[in-house]
Amino acid sequence: MSVNIDIKSYPLFINGEWIASEANRTFDVVNPANGELVAKVASGTKKDVDRAVEAATAAFEQDEWREMAPKERSKILYAIAQKIMENAEELVGLEAISSGGTVRRLGSNDVLQMVDLFQTLGKFVLDYTFSETLPSPPFPGPAHNFIWREPIGVCAAITPWNMPMLIASWKIAPALAMGNTIVIKPASYTPLTTLRLAEIISEVVPPGVINVVTGSGKEVGEALATHPKVEKIAFTGSTEVGRHIMSLASNTIKNTTLELGGKSPSILLEDADLSLALPGSLFGVFLHSGQLCESGTRLFVPDKIYDQVIDGLKELSEKLVLGNPLDLATDMGPVISETQKESILSYIEKGKQEGARLVCGGQEVKVEGCEKGHFIAPTIFADVTNDMTIAREEIFGPVLSIIRYSEVEDAVRMANDTIYGLAAGVWTADVNKAYKVVRKLRAGVVWINDWHMLRNDAPFGGYKQSGIGREMGRHSLDAYTQVKHVHTSMVPEAERRTWYSLLFSNQS
Ligand code: NAP
Repeated sequence: MSVNIDIKSYPLFINGEWIASEANRTFDVVNPANGELVAKVASGTKKDVDRAVEAATAAFEQDEWREMAPKERSKILYAIAQKIMENAEELVGLEAISSGGTVRRLGSNDVLQMVDLFQTLGKFVLDYTFSETLPSPPFPGPAHNFIWREPIGVCAAITPWNMPMLIASWKIAPALAMGNTIVIKPASYTPLTTLRLAEIISEVVPPGVINVVTGSGKEVGEALATHPKVEKIAFTGSTEVGRHIMSLASNTIKNTTLELGGKSPSILLEDADLSLALPGSLFGVFLHSGQLCESGTRLFVPDKIYDQVIDGLKELSEKLVLGNPLDLATDMGPVISETQKESILSYIEKGKQEGARLVCGGQEVKVEGCEKGHFIAPTIFADVTNDMTIAREEIFGPVLSIIRYSEVEDAVRMANDTIYGLAAGVWTADVNKAYKVVRKLRAGVVWINDWHMLRNDAPFGGYKQSGIGREMGRHSLDAYTQVKHVHTSMVPEAERRTWYSLLFSNQS
């Protein structure tokens, strides 16, 4: 694939318009595959956040949007899906040149997942239970009671750089489906597709419903997390920043969803079909150069097949082709930045120092035609113990830690011995054995004989310090509503309202 790169300047997207940042500053977006400048983007400020929140508040106050019938809202979600499809090639190109994701993955997965997400929620909205009627209570007297699900108001989304357009969609789609308005702050490495997505979506929603303020986490992110008119914050990113956002959001008691990091365990049982499990384990860890939160970074392997598994994984890993993400033959693209590359390489050094055995990879790779890119060879460590740094901390790069076990109970105990709980997996020929293990694994999603299989109709989110709340599926619609109980008394006479005597003692 070739992408026309005319270096463009992107202002902020507020109230359906492109608007310059009040400070008139910009930051560079650079292609991680070759170091070339891709775009200059407005560096927003606290005042810009105020402007975006004002626009989102005004849009929320319009009955036209907030009170829209589910049928009309569903049509809008389907229209957005259609627009994403029409602009798919551009979105894939923009995302590839800024995130380093391969066009093979972006074109055949991410963009289609986005289309399916808007369609799925468009379908769910039609039969969503916006109102429930409760049975009349026997005590203290007859009444009519409803439970209503209502939109929350102005929502803020703060997103990471690894799958920018898909993760932004996980927040935009349910927010809009439930009648909220949204202000998004994309990661500074990868703001382009979120800006373009907002522009596309604004063609079918009123001005102010979707807004994007680009800029640093410190300035724009913190302004959103503390803004008194932002009622919900949905954050995806590292556990460290998630903790900080949670504390910032506590001042104004915001409804908070956090999708954070992981150190996901993958347990290979002795009876696993290795022709499936070996490529599956590598698919689980090396897709997008290991920069996926749900990557299976710790592989637990039983004594009996330990050496065989290591040999097989090494052979397969060494066949992976590193290259330009725009090339369809590329299996793995670059990591996002020089800083991230250095961080991954320092984890690799730490692994060696702490006594893990380097099986393959472990070094930076120079790719022809992409000499200024940040590429790291797929790296496998064997003889890792669960207390080593490479088994405990999220590396967010192409590094697999293999941990040996004798009894399945030990593997499960070590799998759960982590602060994280995002994903997990079991490889076995016997699903009954798998279910026993799955029951014990403390993770928000568990795959049996597979990896990365997220569905738009199923919830996704973490146990423990991998997060709070769920995205996707019907659960995500609940997460963008608040619940109101409405009571109508059916007792019109004051004298029959026995409960008034709780205050008035002298009624005759
Ligand atoms: P990050 O450093 O936590 O940044 C995420 C977002 O937070 C970015 O938009 C960043 O802005 C912003 N930010 C940074 N500091 C902030 C602050 N003080 N206040 C408010 N916002 C702030 O994460 P990342 O490096 O982009 O992404 C990788 C992480 O995301 C990994 O830990 C990965 O596991 C996690 N992740 C989780 C999921 C999930 O669904 N659970 C999915 C994908 C990724 P700037 O870009 O301007 O710094």
